[in-house]
Amino acid sequence: MDFLESEEHALLRTSIHKIAAKYGHEYYARESRAGGKATALWKELADAGFLGINLPTEHGGGGLGIYELSLVCEELAKVGTPFLLLIVSPAICGTILARYGTAEQRARFLPGLCSGETKMAFAITEPNAGSNSHDISTRATRDGEGYRLNGTKYFISGHDESENVLVVANTGPASQAGRSPLSLFVVATNSPGLSATPIPVEIQSPEKQFTLFFDNVYVEATRLIGEEGSGLKQVFTGLVPERITGAALANGLGLYALEKASRYARERKVWKVPIGAHQGIAHPLAKAKIEVEQARLMTCKAAWLYDQGLDAGEAANMAKYAAAEAGLLALDQAIQTHGGNGMATEFGLADLWGMARLLRTAPVSREMVLNYVAQHSLGLPRSYGEKRGDA
Ligand SMILES: Cc1cc2nc3c(=O)[nH]c(=O)nc-3n(C[C@H](O)[C@H](O)[C@H](O)COP(=O)(O)OP(=O)(O)OC[C@H]3O[C@@H](n4cnc5c(N)ncnc54)[C@H](O)[C@@H]3O)c2cc1C
Repeated sequence: MDFLESEEHALLRTSIHKIAAKYGHEYYARESRAGGKATALWKELADAGFLGINLPTEHGGGGLGIYELSLVCEELAKVGTPFLLLIVSPAICGTILARYGTAEQRARFLPGLCSGETKMAFAITEPNAGSNSHDISTRATRDGEGYRLNGTKYFISGHDESENVLVVANTGPASQAGRSPLSLFVVATNSPGLSATPIPVEIQSPEKQFTLFFDNVYVEATRLIGEEGSGLKQVFTGLVPERITGAALANGLGLYALEKASRYARERKVWKVPIGAHQGIAHPLAKAKIEVEQARLMTCKAAWLYDQGLDAGEAANMAKYAAAEAGLLALDQAIQTHGGNGMATEFGLADLWGMARLLRTAPVSREMVLNYVAQHSLGLPRSYGEKRGDA
């Protein structure tokens, strides 16, 4: 076992950091507040090859893994410039397309994601199904050479800046266990019949959130990814990287907050000594540091398992849980350490609260991770859904 980061990875971190630090949190916050997309930063990341770092080289990607993509996510968040769309576009959509797309589909959709010219949103959540993805009611029905999609998707990040959205739809009658066969479609965001309304949220990020309405949207069969009805397995191929990169983002936010807090605690003097000399300030920061480092270890493990082709579901869930809690703790303590300044825009902390807090709920909620661990890691009976009482 080797816990030392390789020279290549250290170099990768430095290169990402150099680009992100050139822009910094002020740029990110200004763009987010003004409804901008932080396009200049996104483009530089694309030009350096970081957006498709986990995608196949034949389509312009870096040919590396989810570990390397998680480094991109962490390093960006570490300077206060986190992108939610990295978790969606290359981590979920790119992974699924690379694994299950036909040669024609890969050649059609992946080069744009790698070059940064196009982005792909991801739509599974629905207003009524919530965390129960088996219950989604967006339906795709056969129509000649293609399909017709009808239904509503909720909280879809970055729909307005994406050329396509990868939609999870129900394509058949539910099984006796109540599970519907799911299928995945790459739908052009400008398709006739597809409309979107923004959801106002208290999160400052370049990505905005949308409700999508599919009203008899026609989708060619060439846009069905993988086999009809086998979408659930495909979705999980993408959701594990989503959890790992989401964890990396939360870890990066934790490091960002701790760096700011410890600097402030060394410099700010009240009662003639730096506030960091008081254990009331030092200990909570030390605790947050320990928890962020623990979460980073679990995130590395999950990424490593995934990249080795091993089952990373449990580790990814645990990493996402630990990282979200640690990132939030670190940010909260950083705000507290700054006293009143913790709330001042200039200090760049409180505006990240919405993003850090979101990660406790999405991409998978804290409670659903606890359900998973209780059931799969501890063998406890399932408390909900069609298999209630049946471990
Ligand atoms: C900013 C933002 C961006 C998002 N981006 C996307 C996106 O791009 N694409 C997409 O498809 N989705 C996206 N989502 C949706 C997100 O994944 C869901 O909000 C999340 O999975 C929780 O689902 P829900 O909101 O329906 O909550 P619900 O399922 O309604 O749950 C409500 C509460 O009940 C708890 N709960 C539910 N079931 C159980 C249970 N069995 N046991 C214990 N507790 C339970 C939950 O943990 C939660 O606390 C986004 C959400 C947000 C807020």
